[in-house]
Amino acid sequence: MQLEADAAEMDCCLNCGSHVTPQFRRGFGDHRDRVHRCPSCDIYENLSAGSAAGKFLESTTQEEASR
Ligand SMILES: [Zn+2]
Repeated sequence: MQLEADAAEMDCCLNCGSHVTPQFRRGFGDHRDRVHRCPSCDIYENLSAGSAAGKFLESTTQEEASR
């Protein structure tokens, strides 16, 4: 049942393994509907900015914070 195993893997966050809904994958995932970050391991602000699609945000660096 390899197909089922693949499907189950697609249903999970690639970072923490938490289950994510198909709606979330389509809305926030990358071009293959894979979710790199989910509400369990990142904040919504980052998810909507692209972290769920695999973009690693560098806007919140410590250098900017200590300005
Ligand atoms: Zn996650």
